[in-house]
Amino acid sequence: MSTPVLDQAPATTTGTADRFAARTALVADIAAHFADEVDRDARPPREAIAAMKEHGLLAAAVPTELGGEGATLAELSVIATELGRACAATAMVFAMHHGQAMALWRHGGVALGVTAMIEAVRDGALVASSTTERGIGGDARRSTCAIEPDEAGHIRLRKDAPVISYATEADAVFVTARRDLDAAPSDQRLVICLPEETTLTQTSTWDTLGLRGTCSNGWVLDAETHEDRVLRDDYAAISAQTVLPVSHVLWASVWLGIAADAADRARRAVRKQARATVGQTPPGALRLAELLVDLQALADSVRHAADRWDAVADDPEVLESTAYALSANALKIGSSERVTDIVTKAMRIVGIAGFAATGPSSLARHLRDSHGAAVMVSNDRLLQNDAGLALMSGAIL
Ligand SMILES: Cc1cc2nc3c(=O)[nH]c(=O)nc-3n(C[C@H](O)[C@H](O)[C@H](O)COP(=O)(O)OP(=O)(O)OC[C@H]3O[C@@H](n4cnc5c(N)ncnc54)[C@H](O)[C@@H]3O)c2cc1C
Repeated sequence: MSTPVLDQAPATTTGTADRFAARTALVADIAAHFADEVDRDARPPREAIAAMKEHGLLAAAVPTELGGEGATLAELSVIATELGRACAATAMVFAMHHGQAMALWRHGGVALGVTAMIEAVRDGALVASSTTERGIGGDARRSTCAIEPDEAGHIRLRKDAPVISYATEADAVFVTARRDLDAAPSDQRLVICLPEETTLTQTSTWDTLGLRGTCSNGWVLDAETHEDRVLRDDYAAISAQTVLPVSHVLWASVWLGIAADAADRARRAVRKQARATVGQTPPGALRLAELLVDLQALADSVRHAADRWDAVADDPEVLESTAYALSANALKIGSSERVTDIVTKAMRIVGIAGFAATGPSSLARHLRDSHGAAVMVSNDRLLQNDAGLALMSGAIL
């Protein structure tokens, strides 16, 4: 049994002995078993989602005082990476779920609809999200969709969403919407929409290059619910303090997993070459060493960002600072560029077997999935936001 590349690197060994390791390994085995089928058929990774529910991975971050295990972001990051090695679609479900679910106890308040949702997540519920909107694109901080209240506390909303991942599998969709019909586009709230109170009308089919198993079809979402399912805090605070930084760390953790598995495949190929030419270091070994430098840098930046969020998680002033926003965007932009580079380098090391569409050394799925990283909230859009922030910020380091 060979040792995965990342486990040989001292800076990333936290993944091997943590309290979630055995359960994560079980889920990863199931995810890996179905990964090619999920990718080929562009269908949800249902078996892995069921296993995540069964083994408590979707509930991992629920605070201990609310009956959960209180996983840190550093722990979630390790889980996301291990799942990312096995099946990037499964890992993205895990990552996207946590980016939303953690808003519940950090920003939700004590309304009955919110506390009921926390209990549901503690019991394994899966949360999807709808921020992207037709006509607005990937700018999560603006909405056309608005909450329409009535006197009795009921609310309605309609969102034309070009992309909602795993909507058919989710136990709730968290939707950004303007506070009311008169509110400005950026004056947003986050609304919990349960399946029994929501009608989803499909408008497009997710037939993409990669991350095919996220099944991020287009939907018109119509919800009729109650105001106690609106999270307490403004979405501006929810996004800055939780959804954006947590999502960026966990997405990057998934991409690290894709890169790490690609590096493992490259290492196996070089070992094979070495066995065939005893006494000589194969040329691929130099390229492998170079690739491991990139992989280590990616791992260090991802794990550092997770630790950093854990350290300041209860400090809104730091989380809402310009410097923090720039660092959260830097992680997403940098890691999304690195993952495609690392997988491409791994494919060149492996050669034809890596270029093959299928097989134990194939890197086709890894390469296709890795390209999802830069378009999942466009890097240019983030850089455009950064351009404004960069003028306001002081020294970054
Ligand atoms: C795998 C996957 C899963 C996803 N799941 C979900 C989900 O569950 N829920 C959800 O709401 N969304 C989801 N998304 C959507 C994602 O969050 C982005 O909103 C979406 O990918 C952006 O779509 P777009 O590229 O068409 O639009 P845009 O963001 O509008 O970008 C289109 C192009 O215009 C350029 N552009 C647009 N505006 C600017 C600007 N201001 N500055 C610079 N360049 C700009 C971009 O660079 C890009 O080239 C998912 C995306 C992916 C890839």
